[in-house]
Amino acid sequence: MIIQPKTRGFICTTAHPEGCAKQIEQQIEYVKAQKKIEGPANVLVIGASTGYGLASRISAAFGAGANTIGVFFDKAAEGQRTASAGWYNSAAFEQQAAELGLKSHSIVGDAFSDAIKEKTIALIKAEYGTVDLVIYSVASPRRTHPVTGETFSSVIKPVGTAYSNKTLNFHTGEVSMTTIEPATEEEVRQTIAVMGGEDWRMWIDQLQAADVLADGATTVAYSYIGPEITHPIYRDGTIGQAKHDLEQTAIQMNNLLASKGGRAFVSVNKALVTQSSSAIPVVPLYISALYEVMKEKGLHENCIEQMYRLFSEHLYGEGKATADGSCLIRIDDWEMREDVQTEVMKRWDELTTDNAGELADLEGYRQDFFNLFGFRTDGVDYEADIDPNVDIPNMY
Ligand code: NAD
Repeated sequence: MIIQPKTRGFICTTAHPEGCAKQIEQQIEYVKAQKKIEGPANVLVIGASTGYGLASRISAAFGAGANTIGVFFDKAAEGQRTASAGWYNSAAFEQQAAELGLKSHSIVGDAFSDAIKEKTIALIKAEYGTVDLVIYSVASPRRTHPVTGETFSSVIKPVGTAYSNKTLNFHTGEVSMTTIEPATEEEVRQTIAVMGGEDWRMWIDQLQAADVLADGATTVAYSYIGPEITHPIYRDGTIGQAKHDLEQTAIQMNNLLASKGGRAFVSVNKALVTQSSSAIPVVPLYISALYEVMKEKGLHENCIEQMYRLFSEHLYGEGKATADGSCLIRIDDWEMREDVQTEVMKRWDELTTDNAGELADLEGYRQDFFNLFGFRTDGVDYEADIDPNVDIPNMY
């Protein structure tokens, strides 16, 4: 079939297998061109098929030569429906890893469930012995609790009072005001249950109980802080409450793992276009302005540059981080630089529909958005008839 993008708001319901494979190749090429990362050996990435989790898996495999297990929730193609981007990404990842002789497996299913945790543990026992790095990069709108069976939904809302600010329709370039009403206490509770630290902790507890977590193992989850203009909708909003819970979980787990030389961190990453971040009001306009400023200053990074920097400068090698009291690693340091933020805020005040194309990088935002689904990628013939059915090698 001929596969074209079909968008509905911030969702694209199609994905292009060749485009996704090309995107993976580019990320791999970037990592291979950098200095080798010293460690880890066996890595489990939960939420491994897109965005930061995928870039973490690529950095571990192609930057450090690690064996990797990727857990993710993606769908295969069916009839006239293409597979999801994460499916095609993972198929390409597995192929490239095999070509380099790296051991890797993919597990498709709900990471929140006991069944997938048990399956992962069985795979580690059978093939890897132990894992020495566990990356937790799940971003989901829903979670069913494995013990109570309750299904929680996360919302992106302010807490306490309503929040109004500029927002962007990145398809049309229209900048308008939006007002988001505050979350109820119940919505806060449910968002923490989905995006907070409980599931991360369950993974580490179960890996430890099964004796498949190596002594001295490291675990990392991801968070975002961002500038004050987005604090009401992010840092101080429902998602920020969940991230606070995640950060508290890191502190508890770090204390727990420290007795065996292990470490737990939350890495605070840069704002980037991913399937999750495009769903947040206000943030896409901020990201567009940020891209423009960071590109002008030669500071722009994508997920892969961020993750390579996390691995090579913070987690491994000389001067590797030890978890301080906060357990936070800041690789949002370039985004939060004073000169960057001053310039972004100056533009923010001036941004309207008429000048958004000049003051912000709308084209860069769109490009990244379509790239997420394998579209607008150089060297891909989008008019060609292509089979959407692609197998993921090494699926467990
Ligand atoms: P993403 O949507 O690109 O990736 C989410 C991953 O989670 C995918 O691999 C998906 O398959 C997987 N997933 C979702 N539900 C699952 C389930 N039930 N079981 C198994 N896998 C599941 O998201 P992202 O933006 O890369 O976000 C990853 C983390 O990084 C999140 O914690 C997010 O808050 C954080 N972060 C993102 C940004 C940003 O700007 N995008 C910035 C800082 C931190």
